[in-house]
Amino acid sequence: MQVPAQFRYEKASSVEHALTLLDRFGAESRVVAGGHSLIPMMKLRLAQPEALIDINDLDELATISVEQSTLCIGALVRHTDLLSSALVGEHFPIFADAERVIADPVVRNRGTVGGSLCQADPSEDLSAAFAAVRGEAVIQSADGVRTVPVREFFVGPYQTVVEPGELLVQLRVPIRSSASAYLKVERRAGDWAVAAAGAELRLADGVLAETGIGLTALGAPNFHASEAEDFLTGGPATDERFAEAGRIAARHCNPIADQRGPEAYKRHLAATLVDRVLRVARTRWNGLHPEEEAR
Ligand SMILES: Cc1cc2nc3c(=O)[nH]c(=O)nc-3n(C[C@H](O)[C@H](O)[C@H](O)COP(=O)(O)OP(=O)(O)OC[C@H]3O[C@@H](n4cnc5c(N)ncnc54)[C@H](O)[C@@H]3O)c2cc1C
Repeated sequence: MQVPAQFRYEKASSVEHALTLLDRFGAESRVVAGGHSLIPMMKLRLAQPEALIDINDLDELATISVEQSTLCIGALVRHTDLLSSALVGEHFPIFADAERVIADPVVRNRGTVGGSLCQADPSEDLSAAFAAVRGEAVIQSADGVRTVPVREFFVGPYQTVVEPGELLVQLRVPIRSSASAYLKVERRAGDWAVAAAGAELRLADGVLAETGIGLTALGAPNFHASEAEDFLTGGPATDERFAEAGRIAARHCNPIADQRGPEAYKRHLAATLVDRVLRVARTRWNGLHPEEEAR
């Protein structure tokens, strides 16, 4: 039986209390949210924090709201709540698409949005979804609050800009007129992605005024496909250009061969998924804006 090394357990009663505890126990402490990634790592002794700071009582971090035309998602929002939120679904269906294919109800009932981003697993679905819509991460410490674009939040596999003493408190996405979607290929229902792609687009006068493309499990720097986005933005939303954007994304990502497939297969998936997810987003855009339908 695998058991974690000995650790001290502290339950935070407020954000301020959590920050005080993080300050007191320093780099040897870890926050625990859903525990779906951290606890298995502790059992395997891949993580051996001296102190575990439990933030599960911090209801103020578990809300979804709109403030000044910005969608605000607390770090402690559970996957299941993001999936069922009508507010999120109305503005950014990409999140419901992604959540529907994250693990199973057991994981989704407990795992959190903040834990997913802080874990920074290269196969984490929400990281790519937030990168596609250019979300922002709000990080708090005893010294104050700082905001970091999600595209700059990740510094490598399993590494983020969150420093010892800091807590991710919220994800923010400015609400605008756009359409979004997420598609994933998995070996079986509930598995981690073989590959996945998310897209957000906005059209103005028949051309793509904004395009966001997120990639999961494909080794894309910071979970997005900037070369494909640059290619698309400013031109029409045609099938041919979507297919070309897929080919560009496939060329510029860095998938690794593993038990889920060889590199060439994953590049093939990158091209196909980017093409398809852009088409789904375009269909949704056309549904919202029939007066200026894109092809
Ligand atoms: C069987 C299984 C299948 C899964 N399948 C998928 C999948 O298909 N797709 C997918 O995307 N994910 C999948 N997951 C991961 C799941 O989404 C987890 O919920 C997620 O990885 C971590 O969230 P958590 O709340 O459990 O974080 P925890 O395990 O509590 O924490 C993870 C890390 O984040 C840190 N942390 C947590 N919250 C904060 C915070 N607010 N501020 C600072 N640091 C923080 C912790 O200290 C720790 O280092 C799967 C997990 C399991 C167990």
